[in-house]
Amino acid sequence: MMTPEPRLVPPCGDRLVSLLVATEAAAELKAYAARLPSIQLSQRSMCDLELLATGAFSPLEGFMGRKDHQRVLDEMRLASANGHLFPIPVTLPVEARSELHLDADVALRTPTNDLLAILTVEEIYAWDRDEVADKVFASRDLRHPLVVEMLRWGPLNLTGRLQVLRLPARYDFRDLRLDPTAVRARLVAAGHSNVVAFQTRNPLHRVHEELTKRATQTVDGTLLLHPSVGMTRPGDVDHYTRVRTYRALAERYYEPDRIVLSLLPLAMRMAGPREAVWHALIRRNYGANHFVVGRDHASPGVDSTGKPFYGPYDAQELLERHQRELGVAMVPFQELVYLPDEDRYAEVGRIPATTRTAAISGTQVRDEYLNPGRSLPTWFTRPETAEILAETYPPRHRQGVCVWFTGLSGAGKSTTAEVLTSLLLEHGRQVTVLDGDVVRTHLSKGLGFGKEDRDTNILRIGFVASEIVRHGGVAVCAAISPYRATRNEVRQLVGADRFVEVFVNTPLEECERRDAKGMYARARRGEITGWTGIDDPYEAPLHPEITLDTVEHTPEANARWILEHLQAQGFIRSPSVSAT
Ligand code: ADP
Ligand code: ADP
Repeated sequence: MMTPEPRLVPPCGDRLVSLLVATEAAAELKAYAARLPSIQLSQRSMCDLELLATGAFSPLEGFMGRKDHQRVLDEMRLASANGHLFPIPVTLPVEARSELHLDADVALRTPTNDLLAILTVEEIYAWDRDEVADKVFASRDLRHPLVVEMLRWGPLNLTGRLQVLRLPARYDFRDLRLDPTAVRARLVAAGHSNVVAFQTRNPLHRVHEELTKRATQTVDGTLLLHPSVGMTRPGDVDHYTRVRTYRALAERYYEPDRIVLSLLPLAMRMAGPREAVWHALIRRNYGANHFVVGRDHASPGVDSTGKPFYGPYDAQELLERHQRELGVAMVPFQELVYLPDEDRYAEVGRIPATTRTAAISGTQVRDEYLNPGRSLPTWFTRPETAEILAETYPPRHRQGVCVWFTGLSGAGKSTTAEVLTSLLLEHGRQVTVLDGDVVRTHLSKGLGFGKEDRDTNILRIGFVASEIVRHGGVAVCAAISPYRATRNEVRQLVGADRFVEVFVNTPLEECERRDAKGMYARARRGEITGWTGIDDPYEAPLHPEITLDTVEHTPEANARWILEHLQAQGFIRSPSVSAT
């Protein structure tokens, strides 16, 4: 007996919008675009363009014009498309420019100037940041990632007919990057009319697996595992790592005909309730008629007073009110927790208040497990996920760190750095030494000692150090680095949490007395000018991690002290741990 082909929910507005022009027309348009003024799209606008072009935002047919925008702000509806529900503004904000006028064609390009689309300008209008902040995000607090990002958006929105020549190039996980049409085809092949979509921007742990499996069972359908990989909350685990966890789970822990994994290049707004409704609408376009909303959906965290921007279940309440009209039924979940005594998962509202529960927060995952190199427990996450996370976030003693010596010439930077290097090697770390004098013979050959050249030299050292640190090495830098602002710039470049500034606080008289290279004497005689400490300033650090006294303490004692500091920070394995 043949089973009937499953019938998926139709897209919003009954047809998928497609803005991609036919290949034949594209060549001609491309030549034409070469003569047009260009706009370089932001990462966010590129994601929006891609979802507009493939119909993921159906029935929206382009960046919103003034009327659509206003009604979306006020009523969560478009002015066009029979007032279709649409909770989030999708606009193209730009700076004012004379070439941008009504009826002009403009080329929309990537940040590296590759052509993506041609826009025929039909409307240019000013928008109000505070109004958008109030109505969409319900907050003007700058801790909200979008409220702060909007400060950098141009003051005018552009709209008009869009002809998309090609989608932004994506080379990673090609097999998982499916547009709405392709996802629908996979869902039909999976064989179930009911589809429940799951949105995520985090690695999937056991509670999420449980959540998705329960939801799939409830609707007796297919799970559309649909992670956002465009832009998520700043600080999230990168999507390369996340997708590797999704793939491992989808392959090993779900029934093959009950799951479709696809990546959604969505630039999230972290708008909580409004975002949940938007997520559901988007998933309907991909063929889902059910959508999971748990606790704190699309949450931007807490504001500057420490208060959550949205209540944990506000998103469920808003979607509840609109699900019928949207044609996407919500599958709500309360917070799911683990019950260690019963070895099962349960929603918090369905267990007695006295039941023992266990949970590990994202911060705890890093601070208490990955950084010290502890394995995540299997009740919390699958071993495959634990292993992928451990690769991305190695324990602290395998993460990079920069030790930055600063001080006058002859203070003892190089001498101490040399001892420290031996000790670091003894403790199993890979070290690159960037010594000011040595760097000036290659990387900074030809640079002088004027302020600008000194800064260039330091920033070069800082750049190299930051790359070394990013790849898990120890960068030991020893350069006078006389200017506070430049050292702070390097600190930012490397990452403040892995930058150890060591102030070699040797008094000028002592440096001059040592005068290993005879330079102070020459500077005093006026044979050289611009010598730090004599006729060029040295700005001592205000808050160095470590200050060394080289008059009272030997280079070895000082180096061992720095080593202890690194040990306390976890960058060096302490002896007790190395035994395990
Ligand atoms: P988002 O920021 O879009 O909410 P997440 O990856 O944080 O992305 O969450 C994905 C979904 O899982 C959301 O619907 C969220 O509410 C739900 N969720 C996450 N953790 C839990 C949990 N412990 N209990 C219940 N629901 C959860
Ligand atoms: P810098 O790299 O800061 O210019 P160097 O390390 O090249 O300084 O030179 C410091 C000089 O001071 C060396 O000749 C070193 O032997 C001498 N010195 C004497 N005591 C100390 C000490 N406690 N720490 C570091 N150097 C010292």
